[in-house]
Amino acid sequence: MQIDEQELKKKLTAEQYHILREKGTEAPFTSPLLEVHNKNVMFKCAVCGSQLFAADTKFDSGTGWPSFDEALPGAVEFHKDSEYGMERTEVTCATCGSHLGHVFDDGPSATTGKRFCINGACLLAEKK
Ligand SMILES: [Zn+2]
Repeated sequence: MQIDEQELKKKLTAEQYHILREKGTEAPFTSPLLEVHNKNVMFKCAVCGSQLFAADTKFDSGTGWPSFDEALPGAVEFHKDSEYGMERTEVTCATCGSHLGHVFDDGPSATTGKRFCINGACLLAEKK
């Protein structure tokens, strides 16, 4: 998918653009999505609108970032990220390549054991 970066800069806030397109990270406990517990929403990519996370996979991780134990099948891609001397797995939108956050192996053991730690600025919470 070709992204017109100049058009995108007009559509997104400066913070959103930085996080999504320059792999930034939002400050913890700042995302309004932390308070979204409605099961009738779908979390979509703020750049391309692709559906990424279902509401029933969202959980409160206490980290200050919206957290999910699973992504929709094929919705995201994984990349090794060794920046800052840490071995992490970066999560990007499979459709447009935008940065979303990281995935860790310390999620809820009752479900997948995964913790998708996602910047709320990268997501749109929309009615299904
Ligand atoms: Zn996208």
